[in-house]
Amino acid sequence: MADLVVVGSVALDSVKTPFGTVTEALGGAATYFSYAASFFTQVRVVGAVGDDFPQEHLALLIERGVDTSALEVLPGKKTFRWSGEYGFDLNEARTLDVQLNAFADFKPKLGPVHRQARFVFLANIDPVLQLDVLNQMERPALAALDTMNFWIEGKREDLLKVLARVDVLLINDTEARMLAREPNLVKAARAITEMGPRTVVIKRGEYGALLLSQAQFFFAPAYPLESEFDPTGAGDTFAGGFMGYLAQQNATDLASLRRAMVRGAAMASFTVEDFSLERLKRLDPREIEARLVVFADMVRLEG
Ligand code: AMP
Repeated sequence: MADLVVVGSVALDSVKTPFGTVTEALGGAATYFSYAASFFTQVRVVGAVGDDFPQEHLALLIERGVDTSALEVLPGKKTFRWSGEYGFDLNEARTLDVQLNAFADFKPKLGPVHRQARFVFLANIDPVLQLDVLNQMERPALAALDTMNFWIEGKREDLLKVLARVDVLLINDTEARMLAREPNLVKAARAITEMGPRTVVIKRGEYGALLLSQAQFFFAPAYPLESEFDPTGAGDTFAGGFMGYLAQQNATDLASLRRAMVRGAAMASFTVEDFSLERLKRLDPREIEARLVVFADMVRLEG
């Protein structure tokens, strides 16, 4: 088992879906990621919150064994806030408001344990901050990155700099097209591999996720859920399962990447079943195993 470091937003989210609303609930890319990855390996989260961040949220991560020693509480600052809404098509979030707050001029300082981690995930946040963390890592076996339209449009040059230095990009389909400026997803993924990452994972919500690289093309379906409430964090949870499994196996080979895709899909399926981290909080590891069995059966092509 190898260590996994993540930097990304730790947030208070206000979300409206056709099935309900939540106000200032626990959210953030690094939060969903680290909670999900904690089912597989030792996760260490790097980030910042304000002094308004409820203690119970921190306790939740600590109870899962997540190392929060590099999650700074900045006095006098407020926590990152995001608000968004979804229509009946849960694949597309509309951002209503983003307040960077504690992340606005956060300068992370990684300790020796963080620097030596073999796996690093640069979750959704300012690419300048993602690069700062990557620069502090000694020799990661695998570095992966996620981003979104906000940064693709607002900080493209910085994003391209960090992208040039990672092994894997995890991104949703709309954002892959936006980043590559190419409507065809296969061509978009190929264009992205020329920007740096040798592997691109394209998340397509209820339509599953694709892995594309020079050497292989792989597809993991989404779990067929009957009740979906809120897709917020599904992408980050996918990434948590994906990276958590690779770190647990301490592996980066092609077969492990395929197995990691299915773990990612299984973890993401739980997040959409309730708001915020509510479903993950009730998750029993045996439920993960049960969904993996269903996946194996779903994609069996013969017999
Ligand atoms: P996902 O639904 O997996 O794409 O991620 C949703 C999470 O990303 C929410 O919990 C938000 O707090 C967080 N988020 C939204 N916008 C941003 C942003 N511009 N930078 C970093 N994190 C964000």
